[in-house]
Amino acid sequence: MTNNNHAHIDRAIEEATRRRPQGHSTRAVHAGAQRHKAYSSLTTPIVQSATFTFQDTQDLCDFMDRKVWGDGLDREEYGRYGNPTMWAVEDRLAALDNAEDAVLYSSGMAAVTSLLLTVLKSGQHIVMTNDCYRRTRQFCLTFLGKFGIETSVVPAGDYDALEAAIIPGKTRFIISESPTNPYLRVVDLNRIVAIAKQYKCLTMIDATFATPVNLRPLEWGIDFVLHSATKYLSGHNDLLAGVITGSKDRIKPLKDARGVLGNLLDPHAAYLLERGIKTLGVRVAQQNQTALAVAQFLEAHPKIDRVYYPGLASHPDHEIAAKQMTGFGGVVSFEVRGDLKTTGDFIDACRIPFIAPSLGGVESLIEQPALVSFYELTTAERLKVGIKDNLVRFAVGIEDTNDIIADLDQALASIPEWELEVAWEERFRS
Ligand SMILES: *Cc1c(COP(=O)(O)O)cnc(C)c1O
Repeated sequence: MTNNNHAHIDRAIEEATRRRPQGHSTRAVHAGAQRHKAYSSLTTPIVQSATFTFQDTQDLCDFMDRKVWGDGLDREEYGRYGNPTMWAVEDRLAALDNAEDAVLYSSGMAAVTSLLLTVLKSGQHIVMTNDCYRRTRQFCLTFLGKFGIETSVVPAGDYDALEAAIIPGKTRFIISESPTNPYLRVVDLNRIVAIAKQYKCLTMIDATFATPVNLRPLEWGIDFVLHSATKYLSGHNDLLAGVITGSKDRIKPLKDARGVLGNLLDPHAAYLLERGIKTLGVRVAQQNQTALAVAQFLEAHPKIDRVYYPGLASHPDHEIAAKQMTGFGGVVSFEVRGDLKTTGDFIDACRIPFIAPSLGGVESLIEQPALVSFYELTTAERLKVGIKDNLVRFAVGIEDTNDIIADLDQALASIPEWELEVAWEERFRS
């Protein structure tokens, strides 16, 4: 795809960009993209090819020389090792996270599992924070356990517990989300990095909820940043993807392993992801603003028990969030004053958000974690893992802020007063 006539222009632009880092919206539109693409196309072509041809044996040998002894490839040989559409998106994602490199996967979980499988070996140990994506915890506790890799889970925000869980010489990795799901805890990256340095551990932050617009953990010394690109990065609830960013040295083994594991992003999904990323800056700015307004509205509402949003002074991590983040994100969690049923009735009365898992797209989504992720548990069992029946996770979309608030207002107004009284009585009895 490189058009040699224009390579010098691309290099000059790259050089200029390096000298003067651009804002995230400019990078979301331009970074990594070659200025002059095949057929003078403005958009990145979808190179839908499973394999890539060589002109003659000399062409093949030149390629192998560069591959085996050279530094970096300028073309592909086979679709499992990569494709030009995916390359373009990786460059852009690296630029957004201020990273040297990025590696794309077919889903966020493909990114999580590939990272851990690549970096860890039998006999090693990881420490992870609780309140995290359920499948990540499941992978660590069950799959990695089968290969002799142990996992300790510590409360997010408890740095003494984190340090106490480290087994010197054995603990290789500290992993956390920030903000976490569903309580939106924001971990203090300075403290995590300091602990990791002391015990020579690697660090990974799943920053899916933050996006590179609100938080760039690599700038705080974190080794790997992971995003489920299914969420804000793609932004339209129409594809699955995952990405890890970091230094060239750290990403290289992941790219090599991906060629073996085979879970890369296909060219069509890569194109859709690139298209979504272009509007990341404006989407996230709007979602930050709406979520803060929603959180403030709910906090003042008599039918809401509690609101979890790092932008509120009442959130336990508000100070760290204000220091580390440039926006507080688009997810608000809250407890309706009522029980499982009252909460479901409230959700059913909402007209704008769809009832669905996931977050980060243009459509607002609402869910009751007790029913989506913890359906098979009883109320008591859910409480043990910290999930209350009346908890709601609201992921704001890009609809107008006033419409979203008016919708929540009418849905709360629809909860009959007697339901609230019953809920209160039950609470006093238990
Ligand atoms: C969704 C999500 C994942 C998993 O990503 P998929 O793209 O669904 O595989 C991992 N971490 C967080 C925080 C998520 O929200």
